Amino acid sequence: MQINKLFDTAIIGGGVAGTSLLYTLAEFTDMKSVVLFEKYEELAMLNSNPKANSQTLHVGDIETNYTYEKAQKVKRNASYVSNYIYNRDGLEDLGYVRDKMVLAVGEEEVSKLRERYETFKTLYPYLELWDGDFLREHEPKLMEERTEPVLAMGAREQITTVDYKRLSESFAEDALATDKNIQLHYNEEVTEIRKEKNGNYVLCTQNGEFHARTVVVNAGAYSLLFAQEMGFGHEYAILPIGGSFFFTKEKLLNAKVYTMQNPKLPFAAIHGDPDCTQAWHTRFGPTAFALPKLERYHSLHVKDLLHALNIDKDVTKVYLNLFADSTIRRYILKNFIEEIPLVGKEVFIEDARKVIPSLCVDDLTFAEGYGGMRPQIIDKQKHELLLGKPRFQKMASSST
Ligand SMILES: Cc1cc2nc3c(=O)[nH]c(=O)nc-3n(C[C@H](O)[C@H](O)[C@H](O)COP(=O)(O)OP(=O)(O)OC[C@H]3O[C@@H](n4cnc5c(N)ncnc54)[C@H](O)[C@@H]3O)c2cc1C
Repeated sequence: MQINKLFDTAIIGGGVAGTSLLYTLAEFTDMKSVVLFEKYEELAMLNSNPKANSQTLHVGDIETNYTYEKAQKVKRNASYVSNYIYNRDGLEDLGYVRDKMVLAVGEEEVSKLRERYETFKTLYPYLELWDGDFLREHEPKLMEERTEPVLAMGAREQITTVDYKRLSESFAEDALATDKNIQLHYNEEVTEIRKEKNGNYVLCTQNGEFHARTVVVNAGAYSLLFAQEMGFGHEYAILPIGGSFFFTKEKLLNAKVYTMQNPKLPFAAIHGDPDCTQAWHTRFGPTAFALPKLERYHSLHVKDLLHALNIDKDVTKVYLNLFADSTIRRYILKNFIEEIPLVGKEVFIEDARKVIPSLCVDDLTFAEGYGGMRPQIIDKQKHELLLGKPRFQKMASSST
């Protein structure tokens, strides 16, 4: 391996964002040297791990929290992933073909879904409407003990599930297979980024200093901390939201089953997913609750957490605004209770029964070791929770 004193690009973070960038730069640009630093011993040990996320390839067809405009963008971006998987011969390894649907329960949701179908079928011509009889035949658990009217909008045989850790590893393998100077540094945490007078950057790790013409930080919640240390993004803070899951003891669903979004709620509604790490047993979730951590199952770095929370009067105002809304207040409390051992599943089951009405509390077990952290961005100037809107990303990519 050739060691470069000055790299064209340095990437911080070996999750799916960092590795897809590594692959793109190695394969599709004229850059000659790229180094990626990952602080853990393997790629994708945090949110891109299949135990941390729901393994969904979001295409925008069954996500009723997306507008038409957002769905258009998501569809295009998802096609890059599915094309990569097909071209890499990655079915049943990187991605898995299954059925999927969004389920409307009750008259109101059914009529909203019919309306949505009329609009969204132009973008996703393969979508079908499935009535109760169809569901009884194809996904019998959805109809057992069901009394309310239902309608599903679904698709057959799509890449529904992606193992984002395997995808990250595959991106890295492909980048290494090029004839460029591609270096992956594991167990190497970047502790500081400095800009030099000549416009290049110095990255400090426990192994010394590395120089790069460009730096991209794909370090999850830590990205904002790096940006702020470099003088950018002080108007933002992080609200860390944890997400947990529950397993059923048996495999109950063949398809991914999403539920209709309550437009008043800030996080996506729960879904039932066949889990690729558990022989396709059904996993329900995620929940959404505030947790004072940046990494779900790793030690707490208090200094980083305090820096990320950035609590002052503006951030407090955003918290108070959230609590002032009764729907969000109920949602926050409910999700908090869902984390309490034994009691949690008694509350969670209400949501899960929307998918499988015959589900019993004893059928559910808390998915220990599963779940992750979703760092939500607070705009302190606008007193707003940004919830995945791209404004911060734009700021970060142009500044770090
Ligand atoms: C409960 C839950 C469910 C989700 N479900 C889905 C889903 O179904 N589909 C979907 O598309 N998305 C889902 N997501 C979101 C998805 O998991 C993330 O968007 C994605 O994994 C983010 O990838 P990333 O590479 O940005 O971050 P990460 O995967 O977190 O990677 C960041 C990497 O940076 C490394 N790092 C951090 N600091 C340093 C440093 N100083 N030096 C070196 N390395 C560093 C970390 O170790 C880590 O490997 C879900 C998230 C959660 C929490």
